[in-house]
This record gives sequence, structure tokens and C-alpha cells, in this order.
Amino acid sequence: MDIPRIFNITESAHRIHNPFTPEKLATLGAALHLETGTRVLDLGSGSGEMLCTWARDFGIIGTGIDMSQLFTEQAKLRAEELGVTDRVKFIHGDAAGYVADEKVGVAACVGATWIGGGVVGTIELLAQSLRTGGIILIGEPYWRQLPSAEDVAKGCLAGSVSDFLLLPELLASFGHLGYDVVEMVLADHDSWDRYEAAKWLTMRRWLEANPDDDFAKDVRAKLTSEPERYATYTREYLGWGVFALMAR
Ligand code: SAH
Repeated sequence: MDIPRIFNITESAHRIHNPFTPEKLATLGAALHLETGTRVLDLGSGSGEMLCTWARDFGIIGTGIDMSQLFTEQAKLRAEELGVTDRVKFIHGDAAGYVADEKVGVAACVGATWIGGGVVGTIELLAQSLRTGGIILIGEPYWRQLPSAEDVAKGCLAGSVSDFLLLPELLASFGHLGYDVVEMVLADHDSWDRYEAAKWLTMRRWLEANPDDDFAKDVRAKLTSEPERYATYTREYLGWGVFALMAR
């Protein structure tokens, strides 16, 4: 079981697989006023940076589930590096349908809401693991400006314009589901660059190390086209944020 190989290549050097910087992750943790011992569940935990740093900085107890074997391994190494192996656990597996045995204070899915079939389904899934009064974290893209045509959405690697909402609409949609938005931390151009531009050097290094790999042609094509595609579309049109929700 694994995710498509391209992500394991392009994001192999990422600690955060989203347009967030370590500073923004720390800002989010501080904004939530996490108490020592708070249980945090993270579906699609990637390389574990959120759980590991929050365990170090705020004393949370975390469980992460991720389908990438590589990222899960990296998460375990990061836990060792930060000295938090007694506080965090990383499971390699499909997070679809995953419900925690013990209710958590924070249930998160940060940039992987397809796990629950979209935002609505993911909130429903996370709610099953949440203690009363707990916080759900959803990391999700939104349109900074509405694309004028479908090819702009495709340029942003979205399926269609209808895949995402404008920020006010996204915030309103949480309300319609019966949740208060109690906090949010948003990506900006610099944090987007840390996510997207950081893939380019990783691809270049991978190509140098693996010139004869079957996949080299695809990676080469991507490295050639990505900077211009990103600057034309994603950087201009796509926002991203983590939204903290509490049931009304
Ligand atoms: N939340 C992490 C990772 C976001 S990227 C971070 O912010 O760094 C999306 C993650 O979802 C990837 O790590 C990918 O491996 C994982 N993923 C994709 N489908 C999944 C599934 N069905 N179950 C668990 N993890 C999944």
C-alpha cells in the first residue's frame, strides 16, 4: 500500500507536505492553546512534523496515520530526533474510515480531505474520534480569486472550478455544517513557495541520482514545466489554510 510514486519523489525532502512553514505550524499550535496531554489524531500525517513538534512544544500525545511508507518512516525518525517517541505513534495505513479507540481533543486532516471523500465526509469521520468540546482541524485549499475558466482550474491541478470555494464561502460552509470556525492560519506566497519551489531542487537531485530510472522522463518533464505552471496558476489563484472548528 502506498501513494503514487511521484509524491514520494518530489516531496521526499519535505517535512511539511503543504504550503505551510514551521513558523505557521507553530503559530497554529499556539493559537489552539493546546494543553499538555491533549490527544491529537492526524489523518494523512505525512512526515509527522505537526505531531512531533507539537509533542515537543506543547506536550500533546499524537497518533498519525499515513499511506506513504516513506513519509511514515520519516515521521518515526523525526520523533526520535525530537525525543518524542513516547508521545507520538505513526501508523502506515489507509486512514479512510479510521476512528480512534480513545476520544481525542483535536482531530485533524490537514491537506488530505479526500480521505473522507471531501471536506464534509472528512469532518464527519473526524467527529467520530472527537471528545465533546474538541476541535477539528481541516487543511484545505480555496480560491484566492475565482478562475475565469476551467483551464485555469486545471492549471492549478484542480479537477474543476467547483472543487474549491472562495474563502468566505468555505468559512460559511463550515457554519452550514453546524460548526463554529474558532481559529484559522492561512498560507501566503512565501509559504506556498516553500512547498512548491522546494520540490524543484529535490527533482533535480533525484534526476542526477537516477538518470536511468523508468520514471526519469516524467520527472524531467515535470521539473521543466513546474516553475512556470506554478507561477502562472497555483501561486496566483490558490489559497490554503488550516481551519479550527468546534461543533455548535
Ligand atoms: N498532513 C501532512 C501531509 C499532507 S499531504 C502535512 O501537512 O505535512 C497528504 C498526505 O496524505 C500524504 O502524506 C499522503 O501520503 C497521505 N495520504 C493520501 N491518501 C491517504 C489515505 N487514504 N490514508 C492515509 N494517508 C493518505
